[in-house]
Amino acid sequence: MAQTLTAPKVKVDRKWQLFIDGKFVDGASERTLVNPANGKPLTTVAEASKTQVEEAIRAARKAFDHGPWPRMTALERSQFLNKIADAIDAHAEELAELETLNGGKPLRETTYDIADAAYCFRYYAGLITKPSGQSIDVPAPSVTTVVREPIGVCGQIVPWNYPLLMAAWKLAPALAAGNTCVLKPSEFTPLTAIRLAELLHDLKLPEGVVNIVLGDGPTVGQPIAESTIVDKIAFTGSVNTGKRVATSALTNLKKVTLELGGKSPMVVFPDFDLDIAVDYALFAIYCNAGQVCSAGSRMIVEQSIYDQFVKKMAARAKKIRVGPGLEAETEMGPLVSESQLKRVLEYIEIGKKEGAKLVTGGDQPKGEKYGSGYYVNPTIFSDVKPDMRVVQEEIFGPVVVVQKFSTEEEAIELANNSVFGLAGAVFTNDITRAHRVVKQLRAGITWVNAYHNTYTECPWGGYKQSGWGRELGTFGLEAYTEVKQININLDPQAVGWFEA
Ligand code: NAD
Repeated sequence: MAQTLTAPKVKVDRKWQLFIDGKFVDGASERTLVNPANGKPLTTVAEASKTQVEEAIRAARKAFDHGPWPRMTALERSQFLNKIADAIDAHAEELAELETLNGGKPLRETTYDIADAAYCFRYYAGLITKPSGQSIDVPAPSVTTVVREPIGVCGQIVPWNYPLLMAAWKLAPALAAGNTCVLKPSEFTPLTAIRLAELLHDLKLPEGVVNIVLGDGPTVGQPIAESTIVDKIAFTGSVNTGKRVATSALTNLKKVTLELGGKSPMVVFPDFDLDIAVDYALFAIYCNAGQVCSAGSRMIVEQSIYDQFVKKMAARAKKIRVGPGLEAETEMGPLVSESQLKRVLEYIEIGKKEGAKLVTGGDQPKGEKYGSGYYVNPTIFSDVKPDMRVVQEEIFGPVVVVQKFSTEEEAIELANNSVFGLAGAVFTNDITRAHRVVKQLRAGITWVNAYHNTYTECPWGGYKQSGWGRELGTFGLEAYTEVKQININLDPQAVGWFEA
């Protein structure tokens, strides 16, 4: 019998404050967070007023314009980032439990997330000390170098599905490059970001380099996006909010990167082992209860194996152990919030009304252990049509649609029939076909015979309405830099353009 850990070890009944200019401060209001595993109040956190957000932005401005952080050597910043990674690792158990309590995802997932967050700081600690820039061979006596410099004050807005990891994806490259930051976690899942701020404070990060403001989008996110003294905005969230953020950012034409939603296809050809394909399909959609931007939410399966695929996937989906994230045997946790639960259940009704066939799930698990938690059973719709809303729109829950194809061309057409272009996968043993198909997928993150492998070293981001720009890898660092050319005249003489 697996060990059960329903009683949390971490203490949540404490003060959770804003972090502005190196100090922890109370907010203008408070929000009660709810534990998604049982629907009961978890704790209360401070929330910022617009004035406090502006204070945080001014602190980041001062830290950038006059503080030590941008003026440190790359090696000094690298050493600091390694210390942040060490601190996250040293508090990994606590942070994972906090993430599970706050967002609902199972401990085995949050344990990965926290380790990944630490690694992200370590990766950028290494990358920033590597050679960069260019030296251009211009006509003598000039020499030209091209250097990368920090952009300045970076506003960073993140969602609730990977709270600390998304914060790390934003803070690590920004700090490595010498920027200062105002980070806004999701109003649903701010706890690990505040713990991170406490760790940064203990490490004596210079004042104002990282500021953390809590609260909802309109009150806290929008002033950051609109601010004329913020130089860059990095946003991760839904397409609609992303468009609003990009519009707000026009005030001063700040640099914008957007990591938005997806409706990613997983194409399965009949030459591939069916059981392994089904196993990947479960992982593609039900990991983090489908609340993953790159989730494989559209299975596109060749007609000769379609019925078997659906049958096998449904049999496996029914066996997934849904439950509270703190229980060691849980394989899939609750959704993050009541509003997300409502949204997913509404989409299930939409699917049924549109005429899709509900193969399994579509309801909430019943039993004492679920309390008033926000659980939804793994759900599969088959016999869907390409224009159905459940096929086109991001549901962001444990709901998958299975589409049928007969030719390779049709598979590619179905896969690309989306306003999104975040991720996609193809499963086949034919290497030529694999390469041909994957090259035609209009998506930024693709896999052959795999799903969800995410590497800090590789660029993350989407085509079409899945976003602007890339995070992670060398691309992620570049997105936090400006490019400057420096031309030096080694033998200055009069120009002689105008007569003396
Ligand atoms: P959301 O768009 O509702 O919120 C994201 C963040 O934006 C939150 O912090 C929210 O408070 C803030 N916000 C809301 N309104 C705002 C406004 N007017 N101005 C500024 N900020 C505002 O998204 P969510 O529900 O938190 O997250 C789920 C979405 O995130 C999904 O669409 C998912 O695909 C996407 N996502 C994308 C990636 C990626 O890397 N592409 C990763 C994770 C999640």
